[in-house]
Amino acid sequence: MVKLAEWRGKELFRKYGIPLPRGHVARSADEAEAAVRSGAVPLPCVVKAQVLAGGRGKGGAVRFANTIEEVRESATAILALEFKGERVKELLLEEKLPIAKELYLSLALDRGARVPVLITSAQGGVEIESVDDASIDRQPVDPFPGLAAYEKRRAARMLGLTGAARAALDRLLDAVWTLYNREDAELVEINPLAIVGDGLVALDAKVIIEDDAAFRHPEYAEIRDDRTPLEEIAREKEIAFVQLDGNIGVIANGAGLTMATLDVLKEFGGRPGVFLDLGGTDDPKKVTEAFLLMAQARPRAVFLNIFGGVTKCDTVAKGLVEAMAQVPAGERFPLVARIRGNNEKEGVEILRHAGITSIPTLRESAQAAVAAAGGAP
Ligand code: ADP
Ligand code: MG
Repeated sequence: MVKLAEWRGKELFRKYGIPLPRGHVARSADEAEAAVRSGAVPLPCVVKAQVLAGGRGKGGAVRFANTIEEVRESATAILALEFKGERVKELLLEEKLPIAKELYLSLALDRGARVPVLITSAQGGVEIESVDDASIDRQPVDPFPGLAAYEKRRAARMLGLTGAARAALDRLLDAVWTLYNREDAELVEINPLAIVGDGLVALDAKVIIEDDAAFRHPEYAEIRDDRTPLEEIAREKEIAFVQLDGNIGVIANGAGLTMATLDVLKEFGGRPGVFLDLGGTDDPKKVTEAFLLMAQARPRAVFLNIFGGVTKCDTVAKGLVEAMAQVPAGERFPLVARIRGNNEKEGVEILRHAGITSIPTLRESAQAAVAAAGGAP
């Protein structure tokens, strides 16, 4: 998933003619001050942390400044923040606009319905999850003809827009629709969409580019904000590897079994920390590589849950034993294995030689893994 920071989303908005406040990106208090002194950003202004998490307004990551001194102060304070686990490295400075009302508007891919859905609410400015359902309108849109006149009318009614603002909404919807399609977005969210005078201005931007279309967008190749350094390495090696905040490493094969394994561990009070999906590899080297990567995440215990198919049990066992030998003595961790399926006997035998017992049932093996990681909290 390529999640774009607000300023990148807004660059796309500009390209498609969606009205924006005047703004400028800064990476230090000096740059922030310079942006204001040069007139690129008029005072009073807003200083906004460029992080991917939402709720910045409430969390002190969006501040208003009336003077150059306040701009410096806000910039310094925000750049020192770690917002929801993310260090702030960039700021967006924007002119502060006089808002008459904050609305919500997004176009999002609904995977269940297999069409984009136009979502509108007159209660903008707060996270849409916290708005009650009755105040949110969702219109599935036929992707081929695109937004119909009646759909736009319904959106305008929902948002309470008439006259010039209504005409502005029509133009905005066309722009959002075009952006969504041409840029391969799976989400274009404007929250808040502000009524300013008799026009509309996008005060925030959240754009997510569809992962499967990422190859068409080399311009985003450098955006890695939402991956951890280990996830980044894994990605380069084409290993499916995800870090969470628990302490049990999970190695499984196939998305279904991997997710089920995480669920079972949780069920027994465990906290899965890193998971690795071996998928359909049948190369012991690849298994070794993946395992060593997992070891770097320093799990308390590792749970190996393999159902041998294309990925044969003995391949995994070989790769694993090879990798275990390479983990430095001080960094070893207990390993609980459950390997079933293709070449199970051979796999179990290889593990046994290395002193690892494969526990055949899911319940017992998961419980053993939770216990090995120090038990349920
Ligand atoms: P987040 O969604 O992360 O809280 P927003 O970009 O939506 O961050 O900003 C939070 C709030 O700050 C908005 O709801 C709006 O009230 C205010 N705000 C943001 N940008 C501006 C701006 N350029 N002018 C005036 N107010 C703004
Ligand atoms: Mg917002």
